[in-house]
Amino acid sequence: MYYLGIDLGGTNIAAGVIDESGHLLCKISSPTGFPCPPEELCDRIGQTAQKAILESGNLPISAAGIGCPGSVNQKKGMVELLPNLSLHHFPMRDELQKRLHLPVEVDNDANAAAYGEFRAGALMGTQNAVAVTLGTGVGSGIILDGKIYTGQNGAAGEIGHTVIQRNGRACNCGRKGCWERYASATGLIWTTRELLEQDVEKSSVIWQMIENNLNRISGRSAFNAMRQGDALGQKIVDIYIADLSCGIINIINSLQPDKICIGGGISHEGESLLAPMRRIVDKEQFVTNSLLNTELVCAQLGNDAGIIGAALLGADQDQKKNV
Ligand SMILES: [Zn+2]
Repeated sequence: MYYLGIDLGGTNIAAGVIDESGHLLCKISSPTGFPCPPEELCDRIGQTAQKAILESGNLPISAAGIGCPGSVNQKKGMVELLPNLSLHHFPMRDELQKRLHLPVEVDNDANAAAYGEFRAGALMGTQNAVAVTLGTGVGSGIILDGKIYTGQNGAAGEIGHTVIQRNGRACNCGRKGCWERYASATGLIWTTRELLEQDVEKSSVIWQMIENNLNRISGRSAFNAMRQGDALGQKIVDIYIADLSCGIINIINSLQPDKICIGGGISHEGESLLAPMRRIVDKEQFVTNSLLNTELVCAQLGNDAGIIGAALLGADQDQKKNV
């Protein structure tokens, strides 16, 4: 059996074909072409999906899934709100089923990525787990008892928008001090900038790395400086890891999941990131049985998690129907 997964982004549509065990056999990507009416967007999603199937050598596809960067009603297959692509209360499942002639599952993109890691990546073998992706924001998806936890309105799992610093940095969601304003790659860039601006003597090696241009700070600047023995680089990384750990401990104290996986570009830092996080988590978390601690690991599927997870959502729904 083969399944089709689609990862809808603000600028690109990625689609791929997987086998039953969640191996990605091929993937392709094309622009969303936005701004355009929703029907045209669906046409493009359909065409991208057909191209992926062709690329797979026309494998017979049993079902499909799509992850969308907005709030989704999974049961009805509706995209409730996706302002970046002008979708409001849009029947994505019906529109794609018409075009693909396949059963289609619709979910939020972070949930799809979490499901991918749960079924075919770093969270395999767990029952309760959380996937956190550090990118422009912080994406997260919660798996409880082997299922994506959606909440009563489909919008659960937005852990990036829990506050870790009241009246802190302003967030797009309207709150101040959201976790993602500190723990995302963008958050790390802001922290780096704030501390560099206090370094009036420009003693940090980061100044040379960015050629004195604060707009050239990246999510790697502080980590690279730390590796060169730079004191400010180390300080920034320490603050960043403390902020990241704060949200991770909130997750652990709320859910006590078996595992949490961390994905996104910053997770390539591997143990330079995870080892100090584990020390903070061990010290601060509320536990009653220290032998059963939540395991912190890196995500495994990278950018493909969304496609693989969406396809597996389609696959598992299809299997249930056929039982
Ligand atoms: Zn927020």
